[in-house]
Amino acid sequence: MVQELKPPKGKLILGLTGGFGSGKTTVSHFFEELGAEAVEADRLAHEAYLEVSPVAKQISGLFKDLKPVPGKGFDRRQIAEIVFQDEAKRKKLEAIIHPYVFQRMVEELEDSDHEVIVLDVPLLFETGLNRFCHKTVVVKAPDEVVKRRLLEKGFSEEEIKRRQKVQIPLEEKLKRADVVIDNSKTLQETRREVQQTWKKILPALKGAA
Ligand code: ATP
Repeated sequence: MVQELKPPKGKLILGLTGGFGSGKTTVSHFFEELGAEAVEADRLAHEAYLEVSPVAKQISGLFKDLKPVPGKGFDRRQIAEIVFQDEAKRKKLEAIIHPYVFQRMVEELEDSDHEVIVLDVPLLFETGLNRFCHKTVVVKAPDEVVKRRLLEKGFSEEEIKRRQKVQIPLEEKLKRADVVIDNSKTLQETRREVQQTWKKILPALKGAA
């Protein structure tokens, strides 16, 4: 599926990823301040869980006991509870959600009037979407810093561990990244790093397109 995708002509695609809670959303906002448009895979995945989505029936088929709440859709936390303990089910769910997200992503790219699009995709390398991007950026911060921020955000230790388990190790992402952003310090320092990256990467991005 992802192999068939092609970026629309004239768009420069920056694939952004990093571990759970590493600061992808934060960094993509800083890229937006510089004129890029951010498209978040998580937001599009959330759309898939609404009872009006074209894949709602397939989700119902996979989780027979779960009923979508009108206006809110399926309970994603409940689904996460189930699939993080059942790998076969997780794969089946991903086979429903990922193609939907890829399709919606292409639609948003085609509709965008921005030249540079930042695709914020937690599983960028795992899904192969990196091949669709002109350059890739990985956000990193030490485990203990990420854990502290996520606990503050309301996640439990258990949930943090489970979510980290489905991702390839950070070292692997860092090896595959064209650019690494260090988000271990203050927001202002990260913003500065994104600004420097933007200056460096724009010419390279244009060359790669
Ligand atoms: P997810 O994997 O859940 O999508 P993410 O990688 O998008 O997370 P963010 O949501 O950007 O990460 O950051 C996680 C939390 O850490 C947020 O509450 C955010 O406000 C906070 N945070 C991110 N970067 C910093 C920073 N440099 N200093 C302080 N807090 C930060």
